[in-house]
Amino acid sequence: MGCRGVAAPGEMVRLVLGSNGDVLPDLAGKAFGRGAWVHPRPECVARGVPRGVSRSWRTTVQSNAVELTLAVRAAASRRIGGLLRSAGRSRQLAVGSLAVRGALERGQAELVVVAVDAQASADSAWVRQAVSAGQAVAWGTKETLGDAVGRGQAGVVAVLHDRLARELRRSIALAHLGPPGPEREVPTNHPSTEDR
Ligand SMILES: [Zn+2]
Repeated sequence: MGCRGVAAPGEMVRLVLGSNGDVLPDLAGKAFGRGAWVHPRPECVARGVPRGVSRSWRTTVQSNAVELTLAVRAAASRRIGGLLRSAGRSRQLAVGSLAVRGALERGQAELVVVAVDAQASADSAWVRQAVSAGQAVAWGTKETLGDAVGRGQAGVVAVLHDRLARELRRSIALAHLGPPGPEREVPTNHPSTEDR
């Protein structure tokens, strides 16, 4: 949908038709029903919904591109929580500056997540280095991140498992999906209200 380009499923978002005629994101890619794929890019979403999917599914869908974007962000935030919880359960998670820094030094940190309001962490040299090496991304607040890892607050965490880290990176990008429209610069470091 959208640009009609071809890409691997991991680079796209699967859309399914909900029972009310709404278009729902299926981030795990496992929901039953007719599917369509769209790049998680504002311009592809704008072109793909409702026009592209209506044509492809030969039905009138009830969602517009803005609603789909909000649904993608919300689903991505839920998935981020689930992935972090699952990393914690399987002991593939480091929480807090000391543990994350240790994991980075041992080469075990696949992805570091820094809360957007964790200024002290964000300013530290080792986090800045991880950011510039593409090993760290910003998501949520200390409270939302803490919630997801079962602590009151968490400024920085690291996922040690490569597949979980890959899924997490993808979900964090989706949680920051910009508003539908023509191509533009999209700021990515603002926590959205859908994060909770
Ligand atoms: Zn596209």
